[in-house]
Amino acid sequence: MKKPKCAICNDTGIEIVPRGRFAAADRCSGCQTSCQICDGTGYLFELDENGREHAQKCQCQDLSYRIMLYNNAQIPSQFYDATFENFDISGNPSLKSALDTARFSFKNYQNGKWEGLLFMGGVGVGKTRLVSTMLRDYTLKYGIPCLFKEFSSLLSEIKSGYDKGLSETNLLESINNIDILVIDELGKGRKSDWEINILDTIISNRYNMRKTTIFTTNYTDSKSTSLGETAGQKDGKGGAAESERRETLEQRVYSRIYSRLKGMTDFIVINGPDFRDPRNRYTTRSKKR
Ligand SMILES: [Zn+2]
Ligand SMILES: [Zn+2]
Repeated sequence: MKKPKCAICNDTGIEIVPRGRFAAADRCSGCQTSCQICDGTGYLFELDENGREHAQKCQCQDLSYRIMLYNNAQIPSQFYDATFENFDISGNPSLKSALDTARFSFKNYQNGKWEGLLFMGGVGVGKTRLVSTMLRDYTLKYGIPCLFKEFSSLLSEIKSGYDKGLSETNLLESINNIDILVIDELGKGRKSDWEINILDTIISNRYNMRKTTIFTTNYTDSKSTSLGETAGQKDGKGGAAESERRETLEQRVYSRIYSRLKGMTDFIVINGPDFRDPRNRYTTRSKKR
């Protein structure tokens, strides 16, 4: 590969940094301070065959648009540098296959397949990193409006919206209309009627409008691999009581939502160790030798 001219942005023209809760993109400070083509005006003036002057948008405006899409997507700060190229699959075949599917999903989207993906698997297998990587590509590379919402923070936003006198319809407008929506941590929460109701509204709207939605969840189709709110503690005292507390995704969101999910996404299971646990990190490395 050719050595990039700009070491900061790899010649993409875009620099991304973690800023507060969300990753923030900007024009690269190394090579994009002012556009060489339009002198930073954003427009080029051309004469037509009658000698009249016409303003044409400069290509740098497209860059600004994609940067805006990235910033509007609300990708978690933690994953500001996540790309398909630097994704560490640590010899995990199911993660590798999920990554390939994610990478290929734009082609499907482009060919009119509106159905999204649902990544299921335990805590720390890389699901949130994966969906953040997808949104980076969707916004910056393909120019598609996207939105990332962690399910429980979405619920808190709706609650605080009520306090400001906003209706659910107002609050869910951007969620309903965005081209590609990510719901991270589906099934998390207290599973109250209100929570299930909100989820049902969002999912039904997206489903009826044939809009692409991508989910991640710690719940799977099997109790033994579902790492729920109360399950999966590492104190070794889990035992029978713990496995009884575990729920499948269908138990977590109930049958109606579950069957919608089946109809609007492909389920992808990611197995693997919790990479946030240093003990697993050690085990993974030592197995490779
Ligand atoms: Zn640069
Ligand atoms: Zn320009």
